[in-house]
Amino acid sequence: MIFIGPNDTGFPLASSFPEPSALAAGDASNDNPSAGKSKTEANTDGSGVKSPPENRLDILFVGAHPDDLEIACGGTIHSLVKQGYRVGMVDLTDGEPTPASPAPEVRWAEAKAAGEVLGVAYRRLLHLPNRRLMDGFEERVALAKEFRFWRPSMVVGFGNKTPMASPDHYQAMQITDAAVFYSRLTKWDEHFDGLMPHSISHQLYFKLAFEPVAIAGFDSLVTVDITDSLEAKLASIACYKTQFPPAKAHVFERVRGLAIAAGAAANVRAGEVFATTRPVAVKDLVKHCNQSR
Ligand SMILES: [Zn+2]
Repeated sequence: MIFIGPNDTGFPLASSFPEPSALAAGDASNDNPSAGKSKTEANTDGSGVKSPPENRLDILFVGAHPDDLEIACGGTIHSLVKQGYRVGMVDLTDGEPTPASPAPEVRWAEAKAAGEVLGVAYRRLLHLPNRRLMDGFEERVALAKEFRFWRPSMVVGFGNKTPMASPDHYQAMQITDAAVFYSRLTKWDEHFDGLMPHSISHQLYFKLAFEPVAIAGFDSLVTVDITDSLEAKLASIACYKTQFPPAKAHVFERVRGLAIAAGAAANVRAGEVFATTRPVAVKDLVKHCNQSR
């Protein structure tokens, strides 16, 4: 696992990339669609740091604050890792200050622990300003560099405004939308430290677990069956001891309850709902609809 936090900058050196996990290697012998498909050419940034093609990520999740991704889609992240996909997480801000956290380093230590619970290959804190996160050119470029470096086929980010919660979330959505677009633009490499353009095939939106089951304003939804990953999701949220002390135990009840409600609507024990930015087409309708039975 690679974690880049408060005191680190730049992309990791190629020599620091870990070997694919035993879990991923084991699953790759089955029907893991990502196995053997990382054929992207080696990629360098302006300082000659290489992103070996075998270490590209399959999917990258983007949140505004450490704990957003665990609450919104921790079950899906854990489930994807168990299926052998290489999963990354990017937190745009450090989420600090907050009332019970003594320092950003403490919050980041919690985020690292949560990332380890979920089993992700990569997690990075992007150091954009908490509470005053704004969609802007530099913010878009900073995130697009992550996409160009890691070359995921799928990006998942915030899907809407979150009234009564942080306005950073909606800004994160707009930054992510723009960064997906910026990632593929040609003849603009000087803004991205020479990182090559990369086209992202699929973009999905998540909601925080406390919002209604459906994502307002989007017609195309998909539910991920997280039956076998619900406990890991809750365990990853519990890593944020400064955010969810015993006085906030009700948060775990709500997350569990809403996962069960989302799953029940799709006839599975627990689920997380995503909006797809484009309708998802399937070739084998029967297999697609039966795979969670
Ligand atoms: Zn947040």
